[in-house]
Amino acid sequence: MQEASKKEAQRIGIGMVLGLALGLILYFTGFGHVVDFIKPVGDIFISLLKMVIIPLVFSSIFMAMYHLGTPESLGKMGTKAVGYYFITTAIAVFVGIIWVNIINPGVGADLGNAGLGALSEGMQDKVGANSNGWGALFNAIKEVILNAVPKNPVQAMAEGQILQVIVFSILFGMVALYVPKDSEPMVKLIGSLEKMSLFLTHGIMKFAPIGIFVLMTGVLAKSGFGAIISLSKYMATVILGLGTHAIVLLFIASWKAKKSPMFIIRGIGPALVTAFSTASSAATLPITMANVEENLGVRKDTAKFVLPLGATINMDGTALYESVAAIFIAQAYGIHLGVTQQLIIFLTASLAAIGAAAIPGAGLITMSIVLSAVGLPIEGIGLILAVDRVLDMFRTTVNVFGDSVGTVVVDSMLSSDDLKVDTDSSVNS
Ligand code: ASP
Repeated sequence: MQEASKKEAQRIGIGMVLGLALGLILYFTGFGHVVDFIKPVGDIFISLLKMVIIPLVFSSIFMAMYHLGTPESLGKMGTKAVGYYFITTAIAVFVGIIWVNIINPGVGADLGNAGLGALSEGMQDKVGANSNGWGALFNAIKEVILNAVPKNPVQAMAEGQILQVIVFSILFGMVALYVPKDSEPMVKLIGSLEKMSLFLTHGIMKFAPIGIFVLMTGVLAKSGFGAIISLSKYMATVILGLGTHAIVLLFIASWKAKKSPMFIIRGIGPALVTAFSTASSAATLPITMANVEENLGVRKDTAKFVLPLGATINMDGTALYESVAAIFIAQAYGIHLGVTQQLIIFLTASLAAIGAAAIPGAGLITMSIVLSAVGLPIEGIGLILAVDRVLDMFRTTVNVFGDSVGTVVVDSMLSSDDLKVDTDSSVNS
């Protein structure tokens, strides 16, 4: 890891700790509202990160595709990446289901706090009868696939639909390979866009310590500690699950990268802290890409392709959280979930995570897929709403960690033949 990156990571860490401290002080001295004055600084930081996402993702994937040389190479990389996503997401959900069944945070939970009553017995029967598990699962798969194909690439870019932008960039990059002469000016242009976007990312990262400091201050100064206390068992279950999964990921990463766990954590530290403070894998993506390439030594073409895809569809933290939350809600309503229903939760939580956008609160929205698949009341979401933002910070950190580890794993599985990098060519970068 370069000296400059180390310093950068330290500054970001200091920004986070100082922000947490100031947030606590403001909260307990009753000056939480002061945060409103500095909030725009945090908002600007997030906007800057978002600003660079589309040019960076489009140009990186296009150039990665161009470098890969053939659709077969893409196939090799894609299958490995998707295989990794499936396996680790399944492990994450499994870990979540185990913890929530051991701790039973919803049993005896005080529903009154959320203004919801327990379900009447009659309604409980309805819950069971309405279960439409496999149909809901099919619909969720259909939605994910349909939503991935853009009708209009410009609109997809304007709306920040990253999965659609990825699909367009892959196709466009592939076409460039088939018409090498005609595509030459375009490849040069997009190669230059990629370099400029990366340069811009580094510029924005200089602003990260201040941005993160302000974001962290804001979270604590205005948080509802009351809700945190009444839902502490539920939160502890989610965080324990995420921690367990993070240890599994760390083990995989240091085994595949042949580096110490500390090396891995330091290398992607800035991305993890940014994920924690922004609660958005998408906003963190530019920093994740820079960290993985520069500090973990992953080959550029792997990172350029695997990371944007991972940030969009690989969300271990979200999948784990969705399974815990759904079972917590069932427990709180006194509804027993059998093995089949927990299996449906297992599958739909994985899918809901794939479908969730990489933005704050997205996991909470796709929760409805999981709840309706096992016939649980959607209003149950009201129970966990108050602490969602805090849990979002933790799950997003694990999402970004999972994406980074995935890139290390896929890279370690590819031979240099699979990545036909032509470093000498002027159009290739
Ligand atoms: N905020 C998460 C992310 O960006 C998604 C979620 O809400 O779970 O990765």
